[in-house]
Amino acid sequence: MARARFSKSFTQQLPIPDDAIAAAVAVMRSGRLHRYNTAPEDPGETFELEREFAQWQGQAYCLAVASGGQAMQIALRASGVVPGDLVLTNGFTLAPVPGAIAAVGAKPALVEITADLVIDLDDLAAKATASGARYLLLSHMRGHLCDMDRLMQIAAELGITILEDCAHTMGARWNGRLSGAFGLAACFSTQTYKHMNSGEGGLLTSDDPDFMARATILSGSYMLYARHGAGPAPDVYDDIRLDTPNTSARMDNLRAALLRPQLRGIAQSIADWNARHDLVAAMLATSAAIHLPRRPAAESYVGSSIQFCLPGISRDRAQLLVSGLADKGVEVKWFGAAEPVGFTSDHHSWRYVAAQDLPRTDQILAGLFDMRLPLTFDLDDCALLADHILDAVAALDTAGHLP
Ligand SMILES: *Cc1c(COP(=O)(O)O)cnc(C)c1O
Repeated sequence: MARARFSKSFTQQLPIPDDAIAAAVAVMRSGRLHRYNTAPEDPGETFELEREFAQWQGQAYCLAVASGGQAMQIALRASGVVPGDLVLTNGFTLAPVPGAIAAVGAKPALVEITADLVIDLDDLAAKATASGARYLLLSHMRGHLCDMDRLMQIAAELGITILEDCAHTMGARWNGRLSGAFGLAACFSTQTYKHMNSGEGGLLTSDDPDFMARATILSGSYMLYARHGAGPAPDVYDDIRLDTPNTSARMDNLRAALLRPQLRGIAQSIADWNARHDLVAAMLATSAAIHLPRRPAAESYVGSSIQFCLPGISRDRAQLLVSGLADKGVEVKWFGAAEPVGFTSDHHSWRYVAAQDLPRTDQILAGLFDMRLPLTFDLDDCALLADHILDAVAALDTAGHLP
C-alpha cells in the first residue's frame, strides 16, 4: 500500500502563547510601544526582556535589537571591525551572515566546513595565519557546534576575536556551556523561524562593558542608555557616547512582550524539538546510504531542523530526490542547487563577496539535504517524514544511483 502523502506545512509555527498575546495587548492598550516610552512605575517589556535573557544566557549584558542581522552588524562594529577589514566566517551559512559583514564595509573570508557541517578549524587557522584576519563571525549553522575547546585555543594563539551567530543554537551547549558564552559577544534572532518568535527581532549578549556600551549607542539609544535592563553602568559611556553613531535598530515593547513568556517556555520547546529530531535521525540512521553529521558527546543541540548527506549523489538525482519528495508533501531543501531557493543559498550566489575557492565545502553541499521540524509536527508526522525519505533513498540505491 502506498504511504500517505504528508499534508502539513513546513512553515507553520506554533501560535503565540496566550500569556504572550495578553502581554502584547496590554502594551498596545498602554500606547507605549517604543522602548524608551515608559512610565515611572514600569520600566517596560524591552527592559525586562534584556534582564531576563542576560540571566538565562548567563552573561552580564544583553541588548535587544530589531533583527539577528542587526545584532551581527552592531556586534561587528562594536568589536572594532572597520571598512576593509577581513572577517573570517563559515563557507556554509545563510545570507544574513556574509550580508552583515558586507553591510559594515568589511570583507568575508570564507572558511571550509567539515562533513559534520561545522567550520574546519585547520582551514580557519591556516586562513587566519595567511591573511592576518583577526575577527571570526562564527555561524553555528543549523545548530552544529564545532569543537569549541579547540577553537578557543586557536583563537587565543592567533589573537582572533570571536563573535558567535547563535541563530540556530539558542539553548545549545558545548560541555555544559551555552553557545554564545564563548566569544566576545553572541547574536540571536527572534525572527519567526527561530527558537523564539516575535516576527522580527534580535538579541545581543556579552560580558564586555565597553563593547556593550558601543553596541547600545549603535542600536539607537540616543542618550537614554541608562534605561536598559542589562546594560553597563552609565559611567562606561563617558568615552563612548559622543563617538559612536546611532544606527536605529531598537526592539520595541510589543515584540519584547511576545518574547518574555516564550523564554520561560524554551526548555520545553527544546525538549520537544529534540524528541522530533532524534526520532527522524534514528530512523534515517537505519539506511546505510545516508550519512548523518556526527553529534559529539560534548554537544547538546536544539534539533529544530535535520540535515542528512548522500555523498557522491549526482546533481540530477539530487534534484529528482527533492522533487519526488515534494510530490509526497515532504519539503526537503538541497544545498547543492545552482540557484538559491527560499532561505537556501550558497557562497556562489553571494556575488558581493569576492569569489573564493571552497572545494571541500562545495563537495559536501552537493550531497547535503535539510529539513525543518516545526513544533506543529507531532512524532507520528516525523515518523511519516522519515519513512518517505527512506523510501526515496532506497529507490535511488536499488536503481544503482548512489555511489
Ligand atoms: C536567521 C539567521 C540569522 C539572522 O536572522 P534575522 O532574519 O536577521 O533575524 C543569522 N544567521 C543565521 C544562520 C540565520 O539563519
